[in-house]
Amino acid sequence: MHIRRILIPAIALFMLHSLAVAAPPLRALIVDGQNNHAWKETTPVLKRLLEQSGRFTVEVATAPAKGQDMSGFQPDFSKYAVVVSNYNGEPWSAQTQAAFEQYVKNGGGFVSYHAADNSFPQWKEYSLMTAVGGWENRTTEKFGPRVRYKDGKVVLDSSPARCGNHGARLPFQVVMRDAKNPIAKGLPPEWTHAADELYDSLCGPAESLTVLGTAHSEPSNHGTGEEEPMLMTIRYGKGRVFHTTLGHDVAAMQCVGFITTLQRGAEWAATGKVTVKVPKDFPTATSASVRK
Ligand code: ZN
Repeated sequence: MHIRRILIPAIALFMLHSLAVAAPPLRALIVDGQNNHAWKETTPVLKRLLEQSGRFTVEVATAPAKGQDMSGFQPDFSKYAVVVSNYNGEPWSAQTQAAFEQYVKNGGGFVSYHAADNSFPQWKEYSLMTAVGGWENRTTEKFGPRVRYKDGKVVLDSSPARCGNHGARLPFQVVMRDAKNPIAKGLPPEWTHAADELYDSLCGPAESLTVLGTAHSEPSNHGTGEEEPMLMTIRYGKGRVFHTTLGHDVAAMQCVGFITTLQRGAEWAATGKVTVKVPKDFPTATSASVRK
């Protein structure tokens, strides 16, 4: 009896506290099914990380494999507060593309995760949502300028180049460039990301774009010597887009910096606000922090 008296109130208090502060969960949809990355490994991690934020219930819509009939892939995007893309593959049907455009235009949230910004080079509205992308036959600057960060501001570079490149996977520092943004608020101004691909030379329309975080692309690792955008937000119609270039594989996704910015970025895309706290184990300027 004594033990129960001690334990139960403690558990009950904890649960009551959780109930009192928890906003109703937001519905998130992850889309996958084709990718030049290991989407079957990374989608369950994305799902778990979003659920662990305490803000989301998560469903997954898997498109048919390459070469299969796409016409039946018609997720009802409008049911969700945010759509997270882990898809880089063949075009969706015209109907599904139009439904996705309407969804974001009308205020839906969208998170472009890592190679999702490689997808759909010919789909103009999608390029407006992601602002920049790379690879997949983006062989010239006609796909749009590259985004640089110089002297405290975003600079667009339209000189001839291929779009999309990265060096070997190494740890690198992310420098936050907009401390007032709800996603960035409270993060250290610089933090070390676990070993990952550092995307460089992404190009695209780059409209309605805010660069939240950059990283220095190191020439000694096949980079550009430029400050390249890593974390971005984009406005598309009434919709909010969070674009993270990070998270090539499960190891990179274990970085607490990746986890926190994904959770906060998805919440911001869904609601325009951020309640997910910056955790105590967030990386510092000089040391990475991973959760195995
Ligand atoms: Zn990758």
